[in-house]
Amino acid sequence: MSSHPFKIIFAIFSFLILSESISAQSLDYAREAVNILASDSLKGRGYVDNGDKLAADFIRSEFEKFGLQVFNGSFYQEFETSVNTFPDRQSVIVNGKELEAGKDYLLDPGSPSLKGSFDVMTVTADEILDNAKFVNKLRVSSGQLIAVLPFDKSNFSKEQNEQLNGVINFLKYHPQNPSKGTIILTNDKLTWAGSVRQHPKPTIIIHSDSLNGSLKSLKLDIKSSFIKKYQTQNVIGYVQGKNTDSTIVFIAHYDHLGKLGPQASFNGANDNASGTAMLLSLAKHYSENKPNYNTVFIAFGAEELGLIGSKYFTENPLFPLSEIKFLMNFDLAGTGDEGIQVVNGSVYRKQFDELVQINEELDLLPNIKIRGAACNSDHCMFDQQDVPGFYIYTLGGIQAYHDVYDRPETLPLTEFEDYFKLIVEFIDQL
Ligand SMILES: [Zn+2]
Repeated sequence: MSSHPFKIIFAIFSFLILSESISAQSLDYAREAVNILASDSLKGRGYVDNGDKLAADFIRSEFEKFGLQVFNGSFYQEFETSVNTFPDRQSVIVNGKELEAGKDYLLDPGSPSLKGSFDVMTVTADEILDNAKFVNKLRVSSGQLIAVLPFDKSNFSKEQNEQLNGVINFLKYHPQNPSKGTIILTNDKLTWAGSVRQHPKPTIIIHSDSLNGSLKSLKLDIKSSFIKKYQTQNVIGYVQGKNTDSTIVFIAHYDHLGKLGPQASFNGANDNASGTAMLLSLAKHYSENKPNYNTVFIAFGAEELGLIGSKYFTENPLFPLSEIKFLMNFDLAGTGDEGIQVVNGSVYRKQFDELVQINEELDLLPNIKIRGAACNSDHCMFDQQDVPGFYIYTLGGIQAYHDVYDRPETLPLTEFEDYFKLIVEFIDQL
């Protein structure tokens, strides 16, 4: 009698036991981590009220609890960045009504301070495209605010859209814009960002639904604070593997956009408390189950300011990047209703096919979509050093993104358990 069938049954049985214990624990832990990272008390993990430091400290304490090892005596790799911040209360009043920061309006992240009452000169897309007319309007705009009225991009050709974008960028960023500042009225969803610069004039993006009546004048008290050298940090730990010749690297950025005054907090549950929760869940798992290879866990700072933490790390690596066998970046891990998208899938086709095969065998995610290279998150800095790896993000579910609605209470974590199982199985088979 061969022992073979018994071995298979045993293997299936132990996988079932393992996956049962993985699932319940990983989802509970991830939920808890997201709730903490995306809570109001972590201030949106930005540069107002030390949000970045509070988040880094939570990740450090988790790494420490799991018994992760450190490079150079610390979990922190510190670096500096410039950043434009909005710590103070903002005020934008139209027709006697104060608009709500984050919901009715946003400030361009590079806006400087501006206080006063201003007349508003409106321009339409058609007026912008009529060069002579626009230049005449611009000439008499000094002392006023220029408001670009909403327009539907699909009504204009590609060249016209390029011209419109060019003029809007001139208004927003050029010191020779004679007006006091720019207002962009939009029918689109408000989406915020971060900025390492402060521009000469402010820009206010107002959702057209929030206006009661016409926009003839505006009372403003915008306050921003530019910090030339802000010290922030990456949080890094590792687990020694059975084989120490190669290294697996898991990365996720923990920073987000922080606050637009005390009124608006961008808590970033999906972006990227969810990916950080995946990173922490994997750190927890591999601290309890010795990995095949040395496994490094990096929570990057300042991604939203332009991949600054990962750029600093790849320029100042704590171990040779050439030792990296494979890297995985988790940025947006909180849904999965429509599966996942794998950036670099077509670049590392063999590994992509393995991922798909495991997913089919274990019947985990509804879909795995392939994508080529894209410089849209921290993995990009490693791509540039020829480090093999994937950037994975979940698809479907909630639409909140870079706005005040990306909060833990509405983050579904639909496929988190299966996503986690897929990664563990994929890495264990590498
Ligand atoms: Zn992100």
